[in-house]
Amino acid sequence: MKFGAHVSAAGGLWNAPENAAKIGCEVFQFFSRPPQGGNPAAITPDVAKKFREACEKYEQELWVIHAPYIINFASTTERIRQGSIRIIREELDRGSALGARAVMFHPGSARDVPLSMGIRMVADGVNELLKDYKGTTQLLIEISAGSGSVIGDTFDEVRDILKLVKNENVGVCFDTAHAFASGYDLRDKKAVAATFDAFDKEIGLERLVMSHCNDSKVELGAKKDRHDFLGEGHIGLSGFEAMMADSRLAHLFWIVETPVEGQEADIKKLKKIRSGL
Ligand SMILES: [Zn+2]
Ligand SMILES: [Zn+2]
Repeated sequence: MKFGAHVSAAGGLWNAPENAAKIGCEVFQFFSRPPQGGNPAAITPDVAKKFREACEKYEQELWVIHAPYIINFASTTERIRQGSIRIIREELDRGSALGARAVMFHPGSARDVPLSMGIRMVADGVNELLKDYKGTTQLLIEISAGSGSVIGDTFDEVRDILKLVKNENVGVCFDTAHAFASGYDLRDKKAVAATFDAFDKEIGLERLVMSHCNDSKVELGAKKDRHDFLGEGHIGLSGFEAMMADSRLAHLFWIVETPVEGQEADIKKLKKIRSGL
């Protein structure tokens, strides 16, 4: 069980490990390219070397990459769909060059097509981008906060995507705030047990690699993506205590994506929970 945060890589990817160490991360997450789109700087051997050296210097051993937000595999605009496929493949290759454990992405939304076709389009896109992929970075689908026609906000949608993906190594990134907003209760021991029973039944806990660890500003099932500091939102600290105490989740690592000013405190809260287990 490791804890960390989404940190800035502004000024160069090699700055991320220092930003992570400053706030007590045991694992960190970053964007390897502008999250709202645009082309990234190349990861030359020199950049990769600087990054690895910084990880060593700041004693970081585990890192993951969040894909840009502009991804939509279910877009009927071919440019967006093809761009999504290209960008996620690039992120896997870039992640492999940096030694990243995983890249997670939000599948997109079925705005212009029926949900079942959207799910098929996501799976087809993933199959296409994984063609000939030999890297070491694992691809993860992130549970979304279900607003509108978002794909992947329920366990059965994620299951349906994975069923159509011809690669068993594709995993899942849980997001506590997203799942809660999508209607999966996480507020106490009983609720946590039921939510992960459902996850196991639909998707399989063996696919679960990590979680984004955020409290939620909105109530259960409110279908909005609003992160809050741990213990200050509608999930509450007892929910996080229950998740940390669930032995089925002991292999996960947890990334807080709360506003930067509260990340250090949030990581401390998690470490405190862990020390009391
Ligand atoms: Zn995300
Ligand atoms: Zn979110």
